[in-house]
Order: sequence, then structure tokens, then C-alpha cells
Amino acid sequence: MEKGRYAPSPSGRMHLGNLMCTLLAWLSARAQGGQVVLRIEDLDVARCPRAYADLLEQDLNWLGLGWDEGGSTGGPDGSYYQSERSHIYQEYYDRLAEMGLVYPCFCSRSQLHAASAPHRSDGQVLYAGTCRGLAPAEVAERSRQRPPAWRVQVPDRTVAFTDGHMGPYAENLAADCGDFLLRRADGVFAYQLAVVVDDALMGVTQVVRGADLLTSTPRQLWLYETLGLPAPKFYHLPLLLAPDGRRLSKRDGDVSLEQLAARYTPAEIIGRLAFAAGLQEEPAPRTPEQLLPDFDWAKVPKEDICLPAGLF
Ligand code: GLU
Repeated sequence: MEKGRYAPSPSGRMHLGNLMCTLLAWLSARAQGGQVVLRIEDLDVARCPRAYADLLEQDLNWLGLGWDEGGSTGGPDGSYYQSERSHIYQEYYDRLAEMGLVYPCFCSRSQLHAASAPHRSDGQVLYAGTCRGLAPAEVAERSRQRPPAWRVQVPDRTVAFTDGHMGPYAENLAADCGDFLLRRADGVFAYQLAVVVDDALMGVTQVVRGADLLTSTPRQLWLYETLGLPAPKFYHLPLLLAPDGRRLSKRDGDVSLEQLAARYTPAEIIGRLAFAAGLQEEPAPRTPEQLLPDFDWAKVPKEDICLPAGLF
């Protein structure tokens, strides 16, 4: 059975970009007769208080985007809140450590972002491997001064895959990704590890998410393989832009669900979003169920989607 998922990090009310992703995840799983898991990605608990997760559940229910397991509904996989799953991440982290792939990193923010630091294609800093191979005595000495973060050493290998929507994508882990963080200095596990462990243990077979995470996928596929976990199929969605081409952001006053809910019915919001995503020809009101029979990934554009002016 197909299993999709919503994996929100609720640090506020949902905006249109989150909604588009949620709608597509629901449609893609349901169109294949599948179920949907709701996993709350609140690793950063200070930014993602439970109240926002609860509000998100209310919003999803109001919109008709229900889920089968997870969130406060619970299910067979223990807690569906990442903040309560550290003991599970620890197990998989330990496996990587036993393989000799994990090392402490003492680099400060400013060292990592030095002007000379190489950059990846997604604009992030490529870690230069500065702390790889530090002598044990040096590690002990530096650990006394401050706790390290922990990185995983990636091989010089190209990971290629075919995205269900975007098509073929490949990255050389050493050159394009670099050794990445598994655990922050404050002990919080990194998204890259948690997302892989959770999607595998929760039996997720398809991941629908924004194209901003396309570049994270090769390293996640490598983690699945290295940990001997089954990898899902990936569908990356184009980003949703404001009518003037800006990235949507709350700071710029882009509509959150709070404002939308005051102006539109759920079916009006879903219908307009479906229109913007190429799933129907008119912005007519639709429930998610009404969109199911004609749902087809081929209708969704691959390039960024600019919201038509005046649509919302
Ligand atoms: N929690 C992430 C976010 O809200 C999504 C991660 C994923 O879909 O893999 O951006």
C-alpha cells in the first residue's frame, strides 16, 4: 500500500506554499489508493511549540486534508512528534558512528561562513572537511572548551535518482554536498538524519515536498542505503512565488491561513490552489476529493509557479 506523508515544521500558521505541498501530498497518495501520515517535524522545539502543531491539525481538518495516522491521532509507530523520537535517532546515529563515519566538528559559524568557504549549487556552504581526521588528543582538548557538533563523512560518489516529478537528478556527495551535520552541538539531531529514519520506520513510500529539498535528496538516499533502510519515491514540487516573483514569506505580508480562512471557504482555497498548480482550468471551488479523479502529476508545472495576481 502506498503511504504518503505531511512533514510540517509548524513554526507558525501555514502559508500558501505549505498548503500547496500538503494538497499535492494528499492527492498523490490518495490517487494511488494510499494513506497519509502526519509527522510533526518539531526538532527545534523552541521554534515549533505544540500549540502550532495543534492549530495545524485544526487547519488540515477544516480544509478536508485528513490523515490516517500521526500527529495527535497517533498510530503504530510511537510518537509522531520528532521532538519525542530522539532515542530512535540515537540508535541510527550510533550505527553510523560504529561504521567510523561520524566525527566531531568544532568549527564556529564564522569559520564555516568565511569568505573563502566553497559553496554548493544551492548556495549553502560546502564543508571543507576542516575537522575530519583530528587526533584524539586534540578532540579531547577542544571538547573541554566547547561541545562539538557531529558530522558524517560522505564518500566521493555520485548519487543519481529519478524524481517522480522533476525527472533525473544527480549529485556527487563529496563535491556537491560535503560532510553534513547529523547532530548539533546542543545535542539536537539534524533534519537529514531524522527525516530518513522516520520516513523509513513509518513505512512511507512516497515523499512529496518542495523543490528546495531536491538537493537534500542524494545525501538522504545515501543515508538510506548506508543504514540499510528502504527509500521512498520522491516527488519535488516547484516553488510557489508571489505574483511579483518574490519567494512567499510571512514577513512580506503573504497570506497565511489565518487571513485566507477569514475570506474564503475551504473549497475556495483548495480550488484556487489547484488552479495555480495546473490541476484545473478554472479557479472554481473544489474539495480535495473532487480533484482526485483527474489528478495527474503531468499537469503540474516543473518550473516555479507564480501565483496569478488577484487569485488570493
Ligand atoms: N519539515 C520540512 C519543512 O517543513 C519538510 C521536510 C521534508 O518534507 O522532507 O520544510
